[in-house]
Amino acid sequence: MGGGVRDLLLGREPKDFDVATDAHPEDVRRVFRNCRLIGRRFRLAHVHFGREIIEVATFRGMHDASEEGKRESENGMLLRDNVYGTLEEDALRRDFTVNALYYNIEDFSVVDYAGGMKDLESGVLRLLGDPEQRYREDPVRMLRAARFAAKLGFSINPACERPLFELGDLLEGVPAARLFEEVLKLFLGGTAVHAFEKLRHYGLFGHLFPDTEDSLSHEEHDFPITFVTRGLQNTDTRVREDKPVTPAFLFAVLLWEPARLLARELEEQGKSKYDAMQQAGGEIISRQVARVSIPKRFSLQMREIWTLQHRLEQRGGKRSMRLLGHPRFRAAYDFLLLRAESGEVEQELADWWTQFQEAGEEGRGQMAATAGADGKKKRRRRRRRKKPAAE
Ligand code: ATP
Ligand code: MG
Repeated sequence: MGGGVRDLLLGREPKDFDVATDAHPEDVRRVFRNCRLIGRRFRLAHVHFGREIIEVATFRGMHDASEEGKRESENGMLLRDNVYGTLEEDALRRDFTVNALYYNIEDFSVVDYAGGMKDLESGVLRLLGDPEQRYREDPVRMLRAARFAAKLGFSINPACERPLFELGDLLEGVPAARLFEEVLKLFLGGTAVHAFEKLRHYGLFGHLFPDTEDSLSHEEHDFPITFVTRGLQNTDTRVREDKPVTPAFLFAVLLWEPARLLARELEEQGKSKYDAMQQAGGEIISRQVARVSIPKRFSLQMREIWTLQHRLEQRGGKRSMRLLGHPRFRAAYDFLLLRAESGEVEQELADWWTQFQEAGEEGRGQMAATAGADGKKKRRRRRRRKKPAAE
């Protein structure tokens, strides 16, 4: 059911399969020894097959899935959002018609209560029920609309599209931790650039990343927009090539513009480059986590990527050698490449680090000894200062 059936019918490889059944979780556990019941809000059965986990949910009723964060009562009584129902009721509380398709393993048929097949064939995303009401029930559905439109290349039915331009404010009521999960799905799923464009088109991006949105409108010579877009392009390419992508790098990309601009301001007030970046990074992240949370382990890595930028700009000497061994070197170097691509630092600097890594022990020693001695560093710095301020 859900995304698995949709993706199969579209000839795509589903990320996962979810199973829905009229059996209650306790019954599922009785049938499958290798089963664990999880979740307090929605009780689900996880059936383990080797390393695979199949999620088995009991059909639910009630046209309402907006109860995120609502506690279950201690005695385990089911609250409004967790009432068992029939297959049809279960279908009708799903978000989009194409997500409300079920594959019936008894007769291998597709069960379609909501007209999902037709929409799937014509490539349309359509919410079940009244669009505005469904977005109000759960504003995350707006992000899901943008995400599926980007991922599937579907259009959004006009009645479901219109409210997207108007209801972005509602995202401010969504718990920051849930938005973190959604942001990962939006930007680490291989279609980040499209998702970003959709979100900006509907005015939703600014509700997730207000400081970044501001920095984009401060745009000078197309510069900021190309940085974020290039970063997301790079992420999409990595996903396509099955290379690892980390939330830390993603958030470092998304928040770099505001962090960089703030750091520049602080530098102009007389702070050292290093202190300015530290302080700016801290401030931007703490403002951001009020909106979209970023777990500590990732925000620490982001800040390392950012502060290493300064150290990468000072090539030469023993420091360069030491930097290669830094656990965040690779990420910081990839980040430097993006900055060079978007014209923020000189390509030559990025090339130097590329060669430095490729050079053998001896070549590295030579590069380290000669860099910085020819006054490049100073010239570079002066040139950059000349860039017009963003304000
Ligand atoms: P993905 O390919 O990203 O996993 P998916 O459609 O499977 O896409 P999930 O978040 O895994 O998305 O959700 C599984 C199913 O649960 C959806 O297909 C949809 O039917 C239902 N669902 C998920 N989130 C919501 C929501 N906010 N409101 C209504 N139904 C939802
Ligand atoms: Mg899924």
